[in-house]
Amino acid sequence: MTENSLETIKVLDKGFVRLVETMGGDQGVVDAARVSYGGTSKGAEADRKLIGYLLSHSHMTPFEHAVFKFHVAAPIFVARQWFRHRFAAYNEVSFRYTEVKDDFYMPAVWRAQDRKNKQGSVAAPALDQAALHGLFKTQVEAAHAAYKAMLGQGVAREMARMVLPVNLYTEFYWTVNARSLMNFVALRADVHAQWEIQRYGEAMARVFKERMPWTYEAFLRHGWKGENAAIAAERAALPVPQAAAK
Ligand SMILES: Cc1cc2nc3c(=O)[nH]c(=O)nc-3n(C[C@H](O)[C@H](O)[C@H](O)COP(=O)(O)OP(=O)(O)OC[C@H]3O[C@@H](n4cnc5c(N)ncnc54)[C@H](O)[C@@H]3O)c2cc1C
Repeated sequence: MTENSLETIKVLDKGFVRLVETMGGDQGVVDAARVSYGGTSKGAEADRKLIGYLLSHSHMTPFEHAVFKFHVAAPIFVARQWFRHRFAAYNEVSFRYTEVKDDFYMPAVWRAQDRKNKQGSVAAPALDQAALHGLFKTQVEAAHAAYKAMLGQGVAREMARMVLPVNLYTEFYWTVNARSLMNFVALRADVHAQWEIQRYGEAMARVFKERMPWTYEAFLRHGWKGENAAIAAERAALPVPQAAAK
């Protein structure tokens, strides 16, 4: 396992993505692919091309030999979407065991319901941001105060938590292989995902790029079909592959 060299990436107002450790990386993918025919590395350029070949031909199992372990803090409603990604290992803080902290996601800007995409939201200059912030803050503070009052009366943590809203931050460890991580980034860094989880998808993309630059490049060329302005710009800036260059 390799130790983390990345800073913890802050996400939303109080969340984060912290890379705990990694295994395999680009070389782990290459080695796993070459073991099929008893081969070893043929040099950096050949290895890099092999990764592109694997991804472009959907030979995905070698990517399962590169593994990332993350420590994540995210609001419960984001975690609920996140935990739908089944190809990963999860361990989460227990709010039966520990008292919740006063850590609630407070959105900086309220978005309006998208009328075309029933799951989506859109920027809405007409919304009264100050009034919405006030309304929301009052509700969150009241919920937290009720939680504390219930605990004060001896109610079990596992019951008192029922009064808390889903913007409460939770923390979990997430161990995921590169194949599944690509699926997560493809689905969650995409504009069709909820704005909040998109920020986590982008943070994951940053770590992925830093730790597996060859695979990330191949992913942009062959695996990324989503919409995301920053990722689209990165893809547009990729060098033309040598074989296609004149
Ligand atoms: C924009 C968006 C909107 C969404 N809306 C909803 C919604 O309204 N309601 C809802 O319930 N979910 C919704 N989801 C969640 C979505 O359906 C997936 O559960 C989630 O994105 C995890 O994706 P996944 O299954 O590819 O990932 P993983 O569970 O990590 O699976 C990875 C891959 O393994 C394969 N796989 C996994 N399990 C099986 C299996 N049982 N059989 C065959 N192949 C399998 C598939 O190829 C899959 O892509 C939404 C997701 C997004 C991104």
